[in-house]
Amino acid sequence: MIMNKPFALAGAAALMLAACGGGAEPAATGFDLNSYEIVDLSHGYGPETVYWPNAPTRFEKTPIFEGERDDGMFYSAFTISTPEHGGTHMDAPYHFDPDGDYAADVPLTRLIAPAVVIDVTDKAAADRLYRLTAEDVAAFEKANGEIPAGAIVLMRTGWSKFWPDAEAYLGGSDPAALAFPSFGPDAARMLIEERGAAALGLDTGSTDYGPSQDFPVHRIMGAANTPGLENLTNLDRLPATGAIVIALPMKIEGGSGGPLRAIALIPKAK
Ligand code: MN
Repeated sequence: MIMNKPFALAGAAALMLAACGGGAEPAATGFDLNSYEIVDLSHGYGPETVYWPNAPTRFEKTPIFEGERDDGMFYSAFTISTPEHGGTHMDAPYHFDPDGDYAADVPLTRLIAPAVVIDVTDKAAADRLYRLTAEDVAAFEKANGEIPAGAIVLMRTGWSKFWPDAEAYLGGSDPAALAFPSFGPDAARMLIEERGAAALGLDTGSTDYGPSQDFPVHRIMGAANTPGLENLTNLDRLPATGAIVIALPMKIEGGSGGPLRAIALIPKAK
């Protein structure tokens, strides 16, 4: 089992040291959020949120009360409901593996970690069914160095531009014949088993490509207790390396996944 915690802490510490390298400022806290650009990697939840075509329900928000009370004071509160796997969300390992972690039990060290971003926008634009290959990972590493253990590996396809047009984003409305790019099994095995990725994420609806009915990447991830981050956005604003991702899902006990607020911290240029 590859440990991701030591690297995640070492990487964050290195960035903090870099951010505090000026010397003149008192280093009382050791972490200065102003040294980072914050990028929101989540879509919102609302009437337009994209769900799998056969999802039994969508995001629902109904008022318990919204308006002026009898005494004139304003008050609002709602009931919300959603399938776990729609919008920007986490796949817990339990999604495809009976022994995998539930959503509430995914270690935070897998969800707060340095990120690498593998950009296949051109290949995905030319082929909606593009799947990331081990060769793509090798080419990324030739340009950027080996992916360190404990990284959150993000695949950028450019698909976020279609959101929230579900037909364009998913490539259809028949759940047996969707068409969008994702990870391929060889790349997933390499990233998880050889590189020790903390998590895999991307800007399409699934860590398996659209037409998949046997979900090999999900099963590789589940067997390795590795969470997935799906329907991310703004990956075009991240550097290939150097960002820290903080991806915190709703802490659903016994859950197979859930709504996710993901952000990235990018060190500002000095
Ligand atoms: Mn999912």
